[in-house]
Amino acid sequence: MNTLADSIFSTPRSFDHFIDGQWHAGRGDTIVRNSPAHGVPVSTVRAGTAEDVDRAVAAARRRFEKGGWANITSAQRATYLRRAADLIGERVDALAMIETLESGKPLAQSKGEIEGAVALWHYAAGQAQALHGETHNTFGDGLLGLVLREPVGVVGLITPWNFPFWILAERLPFILAAGCTVVVKPSEYTSSTTLMMAEILRDAGVPDGVVNVVTGYGDPVGQAIVEHRGIDMVSFTGSTRVGRSAVVASAGNLKKLSLELGGKNPVIVCADADLDKAADGIVYGVCFNAGQCCVSGSRLIVAKDVMQPLSERIVALMKQVRVGDPLDEATQVGPIVNEAQMQRILRLIGTCPDEGGRVLTGGERVPPENGYFVAPTLLGGVQSSMTVAREEIFGPVLAMMPFDTLEQAIDLANDTDYGLSATVWTQSLDQSMHAMRKMRAGRVWVNTTITGGPEMPIGGYKESGLGRETGLQGVAEYTEVKSALIDLGARQKWVRTA
Ligand code: NAD
Repeated sequence: MNTLADSIFSTPRSFDHFIDGQWHAGRGDTIVRNSPAHGVPVSTVRAGTAEDVDRAVAAARRRFEKGGWANITSAQRATYLRRAADLIGERVDALAMIETLESGKPLAQSKGEIEGAVALWHYAAGQAQALHGETHNTFGDGLLGLVLREPVGVVGLITPWNFPFWILAERLPFILAAGCTVVVKPSEYTSSTTLMMAEILRDAGVPDGVVNVVTGYGDPVGQAIVEHRGIDMVSFTGSTRVGRSAVVASAGNLKKLSLELGGKNPVIVCADADLDKAADGIVYGVCFNAGQCCVSGSRLIVAKDVMQPLSERIVALMKQVRVGDPLDEATQVGPIVNEAQMQRILRLIGTCPDEGGRVLTGGERVPPENGYFVAPTLLGGVQSSMTVAREEIFGPVLAMMPFDTLEQAIDLANDTDYGLSATVWTQSLDQSMHAMRKMRAGRVWVNTTITGGPEMPIGGYKESGLGRETGLQGVAEYTEVKSALIDLGARQKWVRTA
């Protein structure tokens, strides 16, 4: 057994809110988090209240208005972000362990995500200094135009449980690079690494009030952030259902919104695809993080001619995926995040035979019994109208549909309310480029899946969201644009004096 895990099992980690550079208990109850793989408590955080949010917003607003962050040089902000990146690198083991115990993701994967986050923080540090405006020297001698980018102000950042530290790293350093201050609310299931990140930022010397963390439930904490008149922008990552409610709740002061929401992502396999390569990528794409990925490839759209050989390969590979204790180095797929989510996955799988489809492999809960494990599942005989083809299941569940022509495949791919990601497997350049252009999704992969880098912007079409994170857009998203016009020389008088 791992000694770090043992020490957390015997003494769960305990955190308060982090507000204005101080730990703050607040008056709310405590939320206890049990490991979804082991069924024992691993951490406690505070269940915040609207009062805690008020306190955090006041601190963030004070820091934003009174200086020390938005008004320092971008080089100084970049220095803080780089220091924070280095400290993350020094604390990988501690961060990864608690991430695994709270979320259930395999320890090796958690380590990979924390190490990947270091690169995101460094990239955002570079972007702090790359941010610039425009000049318009085209109005003649008498007028000069400037376009300034300014930080949008105080940002409310609300994150989900599936990639707690990674999603934080795709947003927080970019928000800070832009010069904004922030109130973060992590998921009530996976708050610890966000609080540890606040500690890291304090240790990196980031001034008090720049980053504040209030933990707790969506209602009241998330709701209070989305409604708060002292917050200028909300960056929300989570379900489309809550994202839609955030649009309504944020209307009071017409906040700027960035929404990264759900997906029901298509994977097209053409008849000429390398089936061995595709099958491995497809199984990875739907099983990675136990299928609890916004970009999971969950709808498999296959050329009729290769449906049989491809599904045989997928079934064989799914049976070999190592599902089990996330602390075991050999494990590839850990548990589902909680019991309710596992029951929902099993219920949605059950709709498939009821609506005329078949379970080709998996479809059930598997041991160890003290965790919420679901077997990798392939569903056949699926039609685009069926529940399993329309709802985001958020588990290792793949719904397979046939096609005759590429146009049909693209129509099926786009037959969804979502538009987060899409994948195509083919050896034909023409087919891949045609599908890439026609599929309405914010990210498209060709002959690979769920890969990327800080340079690439991410976000969704349709009901998968608004705005873009990371890449050059990642910082610009958190700015306001100001046009300034400067008169030079004599004024052409408007009032005609006698
Ligand atoms: P969720 O919508 O239930 O919760 C997300 C966050 O919102 C949590 O912190 C939660 O406490 C908070 N919240 C809940 N109710 C709220 C309210 N009324 N007001 C404000 N905040 C509230 O989502 P989840 O179950 O944590 O995460 C899974 C979902 O997130 C999936 O739909 C997945 O596709 C999506 N997701 C999207 C992306 C992306 O980049 N597009 C990335 C990861 C996850």
